[in-house]
Amino acid sequence: MNQFSHAWLAFMAIKRLEKARGLSEKNREHADSLIEWFKSHKDGVIRGAWYPDSVIGDKPNSHVLKFRPGGTNTEFKQLPRTYRVYELVKDFPLRNRPFEVVDKNDNLPDRCESIAESVVDHLKIQEHEEKGSPVSPTDNQVALLLFMLSHYVADAHVPFHCDGRRFSEGKRIHAHMEDKWDKTMRHHYKINKQNDRFFYDPDGYPLLINAQQYQSSFLKKVDDELCNRKLGVSFGNGNNNVWDFMNAVCQHSYLLSYRFIPEGYDHENVTRENWQDLSEPNLEFDDLSVAVFSDAIDSIARVWFRVWRRYEKWEKKQRAKKKP
Ligand SMILES: [Zn+2]
Repeated sequence: MNQFSHAWLAFMAIKRLEKARGLSEKNREHADSLIEWFKSHKDGVIRGAWYPDSVIGDKPNSHVLKFRPGGTNTEFKQLPRTYRVYELVKDFPLRNRPFEVVDKNDNLPDRCESIAESVVDHLKIQEHEEKGSPVSPTDNQVALLLFMLSHYVADAHVPFHCDGRRFSEGKRIHAHMEDKWDKTMRHHYKINKQNDRFFYDPDGYPLLINAQQYQSSFLKKVDDELCNRKLGVSFGNGNNNVWDFMNAVCQHSYLLSYRFIPEGYDHENVTRENWQDLSEPNLEFDDLSVAVFSDAIDSIARVWFRVWRRYEKWEKKQRAKKKP
């Protein structure tokens, strides 16, 4: 995914946490305090969400976890049932066959887990240290980490980041697909190119150029999909942490990739003419895009929420201890 896709997903995750229904009263309080905190730090969204590509440069192994049919692993980790990708692949025959990791150095779920832990650590240290302490992390540093985290979480939803076939070679269908998404963002949203920011609407979210045209884009379908989906905070049955959750996401992205481009196709016979028409039964590119983007927004919101809640629960305990 490219710069503005990543930034847009981060914004929509904040919006989801702010507006979506479905949280218990206690969880709503945690979400509201996170939103309150985010509001003063969102100018770093684009830079932060793009940092993993522009500066960190760990793309070859940390932005991917690629699978192929084969090996001995038969158990797919579970995703929340409300996910679009779950619906699209739940009856897909490949789900009943073993699968294996292609390159054991791929570590996207580890990367997500480590940044999530790091955010909690930073917040605890910040709370513990006196104001102005030279070792106290700043809010901006924490925000930057959260936006970086959103990048890796989003990448796990991109089918080709989880498919061992070489779609970055040949007709470079991987880049072609991501370019299409980025062009859609640039087409529909007003971007301040001088300082790499979206212009904002009165609610503080990316400003549409033409609300009419947007109605027929897949982005509107993403919005509709999420409006109809309650905000949950579960990582899925049996998933105890970010690492488990991101493995589940990657495994489903692998299935979605094969659902869209069936076995028997690879970088040598997929072209820019046929790539959208290979699935059987037909899966439109727009429908795949809606699944990728709506689920990515949902996942970013879940991961951020859980990180923030963990910190706040810790903070509450600390305060209780200090009371005489
Ligand atoms: Zn990436």
